[in-house]
Amino acid sequence: MSAKILDGRVRASQILASLKEKIHSAARAPGLCAVRVGDNHASEIYVRNKIKCAQEIGIRSVLHALDKQISEPELLRLIHELNHDSQIDGILVQLPLPAHISTEKILQAISPVKDVDGFHPENIGLLSIGKPRFVPCTPKGCLDLIQASGLDLLGTHAVIIGRSNIVGKPMAQLLMNSEATVTVCHKNTRNLKNFTQQADLLVVAAGSPHLIKPDFIKPGAVILDIGINRLPDGKLIGDVDTEGVMSIARAITPVPGGVGPMTSAMLMENTWIAYTLGIQHSHRYPE
Ligand code: NAD
Repeated sequence: MSAKILDGRVRASQILASLKEKIHSAARAPGLCAVRVGDNHASEIYVRNKIKCAQEIGIRSVLHALDKQISEPELLRLIHELNHDSQIDGILVQLPLPAHISTEKILQAISPVKDVDGFHPENIGLLSIGKPRFVPCTPKGCLDLIQASGLDLLGTHAVIIGRSNIVGKPMAQLLMNSEATVTVCHKNTRNLKNFTQQADLLVVAAGSPHLIKPDFIKPGAVILDIGINRLPDGKLIGDVDTEGVMSIARAITPVPGGVGPMTSAMLMENTWIAYTLGIQHSHRYPE
């Protein structure tokens, strides 16, 4: 038996094609504003790809590439302006931010109805009570791929490795909302293997190359490998020893080409949702 490859590139292109059609017949182009601070190389690539993806499907995108010296009040002022710009439906602030700027303050300043990354506490709260508005893009993309794998989540034991606010925690909420039984592991979990061996669904977001080896896997498990790790030779690998687990797992996402493309597609879907919300409720976040 060889695991089915959950191809994120193929699934993402289907989602983007369907969004493109909807956008084509919309009253105006949805607007997405990306804010990047400083010259972090990885951030530059991520933002460039998001903007390219937006343009390809007819989303009007605006980039604010700001000097790393920008002060917190100046950045807050820009976000305030974007919150009140009727042509901008979605705002994303690429993380990480320089140390002199409070990430928490900036994320909280984004209007929750334009928060297409789903990081605002209001959106996190809505997700946790099972009434999601914007779901963070990476876990949202994972859920779509899990559904494509044919796995029935009802009663399934899902084990998540990683408890970050942007990946592990929202993933746990989404899976609980989908009737799975969820275990969350992290760097202080003792005997990680004990947990992963019980997983019908294993979602790994640790940022630790090949942390998950074949003896960690329950036969027939579905594996979502979110980790992105760059080796010294430039090659990208995930948190799972993909080759090693191929004959044990039922399905797995490749790295690259698995969760990554789904993350961008979900950002576009969230921008479309923001646009439709803006049309439904002409009110914007209060001053
Ligand atoms: P993070 O550093 O904020 O969190 C990592 C989590 O993993 C922490 O909760 C930590 O406790 C846990 N962890 C670390 N080492 C561990 C270990 N040895 N055993 C058990 N738990 C361990 O990272 P993040 O932002 O959640 O991202 C995680 C990974 O996913 C990174 O590689 C990141 O690049 C990748 N990522 C990919 C996408 C994508 O689109 N594919 C999006 C976001 C993040």
